[in-house]
Amino acid sequence: MKPPPFKYHKPDSLEEGLALMGELENAKILAGGQSLMPMLNMRFVLPDHLVDLNGLEELSYIRQDGATIEIGAMTRQRDIEFAEMIADQCPLISEAIRHVGHRQTRNRGTLGGSLCHLDPAAELPLVACTLDAEIIVASVRGNRVIPMVDFAASYMTPAIEPDEVVAALRIRSWSEGHGFGFEEFARRQGDFAIVAVAVLLEIGAGDVIRRAAVAIGGIGATPLRMAGVEEKLVGERTGPELFQEAAQLCAEIEAIGDVHSSADYRRHLAKVLAGRALSKAHRRATPLP
Ligand code: FAD
Repeated sequence: MKPPPFKYHKPDSLEEGLALMGELENAKILAGGQSLMPMLNMRFVLPDHLVDLNGLEELSYIRQDGATIEIGAMTRQRDIEFAEMIADQCPLISEAIRHVGHRQTRNRGTLGGSLCHLDPAAELPLVACTLDAEIIVASVRGNRVIPMVDFAASYMTPAIEPDEVVAALRIRSWSEGHGFGFEEFARRQGDFAIVAVAVLLEIGAGDVIRRAAVAIGGIGATPLRMAGVEEKLVGERTGPELFQEAAQLCAEIEAIGDVHSSADYRRHLAKVLAGRALSKAHRRATPLP
């Protein structure tokens, strides 16, 4: 199919882009187009205006300020994939991003696009949720910061106003030596995950877990932080029994069933993948003094 008619705008600056989004009715942002173009062609979205952010270099960057890392919304996934700073400070992102589509889609696809498309099984919103990331959103009214947990309002619906543009993602990196694990099950390499699990662990003296973050993608409408699993882990000595009990909790949650998988099978995948991701994060962690 072909997209519906729309008026095309290509701002030279974010300021100009925000002004357009502030005055145009029924406008949508075009980033890498890896989701929006199929959505347009299938007439799932019918915007009257497309505001093309490609070429806005000011939104394409990876910056570090102490333990805070900021990634511009128009940063290509491929650039994040090969960024040494990300591999060093946030290895969970480096591991997860390789599961996003194919290298061809990652060449064009952006961080902001993946966050705003907000597919329930998308890897980047899942790791943003695991990392307690913040989303910086801009409009003609100024900037605001939305915690990732609030950004994912509902199924494929980011909590932004129609005239707002995601400008950047901000994360605080975990301590050096933290463990990370990312596991997903997809029908084919490059497909969206049926279920994906992301884990971060900080381990202290005596192999006791000091800090944990566990999140599951593909199981519900938005990425799901497993607070109950994290409470179970923190303060306990690591070990296979603990990880099995924690993984079992991941099988005891609401799950969606659809053409791709039954709810039961998704729960089974959540348990198996969580067990693997926890063991992987433990193996990779360097116990802190
Ligand atoms: P676009 O498609 O340009 O935009 C996506 C949506 O976000 C649109 O609604 C757009 O208006 C909005 N938007 C974009 N940027 C902003 C912004 N800065 N502010 C406000 N709104 C914005 N994705 C995965 O996560 N995992 C996969 O495994 C995966 N596999 C894929 C396989 C194929 C073959 C293809 C074609 C796509 C696949 N995708 C996958 C989807 C795709 O890679 C991402 O959703 C995509 O990267 C989105 O980024 P984009 O820059 O292309 O966004």
